Amino acid sequence: MPTIEFDQVSKNFSGNTVIKGFDATVPDKEFLVLLGPSGCGKSTMLRMIAGLTDISAGQLKFDGVVVNDLEPKKRNIAFVFQSYALYPHMSVRANIGFPLVMDNFKWWHHIPLVGGLARRALMKREDVATKINEVAEMLELTDYLDRRPKALSGGQRQRVAVARSLIREPALYLLDEPLSNLDAKLRTQMRAEISALHDRVKKTFVYVTHDQVEAMTMGTRIIVLNDGLVQQYGTPKDIYDRPANTFVARFIGSPPMNLIPIVVDGGRATMFGINLPFQPPETMGVQEAQLGIRAEKVQVRIERGAPGYPARIVTVEHLGSETVVGFKFGTDNLTVEVGARASRDLFYAKLVGDVRLEHGQTCTISFDPADVLWYSSDSGELFDSPQMAPS
Ligand code: ADP
Ligand code: MG
Repeated sequence: MPTIEFDQVSKNFSGNTVIKGFDATVPDKEFLVLLGPSGCGKSTMLRMIAGLTDISAGQLKFDGVVVNDLEPKKRNIAFVFQSYALYPHMSVRANIGFPLVMDNFKWWHHIPLVGGLARRALMKREDVATKINEVAEMLELTDYLDRRPKALSGGQRQRVAVARSLIREPALYLLDEPLSNLDAKLRTQMRAEISALHDRVKKTFVYVTHDQVEAMTMGTRIIVLNDGLVQQYGTPKDIYDRPANTFVARFIGSPPMNLIPIVVDGGRATMFGINLPFQPPETMGVQEAQLGIRAEKVQVRIERGAPGYPARIVTVEHLGSETVVGFKFGTDNLTVEVGARASRDLFYAKLVGDVRLEHGQTCTISFDPADVLWYSSDSGELFDSPQMAPS
């Protein structure tokens, strides 16, 4: 049950750096999610943890011991891939028990008939049978143990693949986008099941996904990766509340965080030519910057004379329990835009409940200075919290 430590771990493929050196310590029993867009290096990082890919530089440690050169077999890990292969001619029971059979494999098991009988006997051995029943119970597969994989649904097959990887009771569970082949409903269900499994087995999980909802709902800690570079490492709450840079701010949350262009000059900030009634961090100096505010922290008022910034509503999405409003600052007449263009330059408010608002309405936008984050336009980095002071 290791604490995982990354000490300037990096990876090159023939001179091409795909993971740039980074440091992180992941305590025991965490559910670590590696999150980022396709091609950012998630699978490479997971494979380095598994020992399936060499580490180019830096050290990977389990419980303080360098494991860079430790064989995968000796790392006591279970690896669940996106595309899982079950043996079609074997029952669910035999598929789940397969790793235990392999552990007890003798050369003469290769002999037809004799070997088959021996393997079957092994499946019936009390300790093996008990183990299979336990794991099947855990993943609600007890009723399907005698079926063939083809008589199962996609979700059930995925559970068999998970069960098979769990049977050895590894110290570390590595999962690479295991749910991406499933439909939306099943994905939601499996998400809950994998989280429940983590609670039950109380081991460290490392889970790769490009889906920020999976990361936020399952992870106890998240590493956000982009282009081989670790953007942020923290709890889901840290990452949601204080994204370290504008990449993370845009990647996490739906709709993404509003990043509104502002100009900072001598402890003052203006937004679309209007002075903000609160001050930016002193360290910002003079620069073009971005004001970050989550959609659910934005208030939209249509009463005349309400305090705030004038804006016009461009899109309204009624989701039942909430209403997502897309707006533009200013009250100029908007030409009707369609498709992708319409969403460009839009900012968003997420309002609780089904709110009656309409496309084209003018409104005022306001937010609490305490909810504001400040980002540099050049580096995209987060600045320290603002000094709150009345204007
Ligand atoms: P992800 O899992 O986040 O989609 P990967 O870790 O699979 O990304 O890949 C990260 C980058 O490393 C990609 O640019 C990919 O092309 C490259 N890469 C992955 N494996 C190899 C390899 N064996 N040889 C060369 N380049 C590789
Ligand atoms: Mg991958």
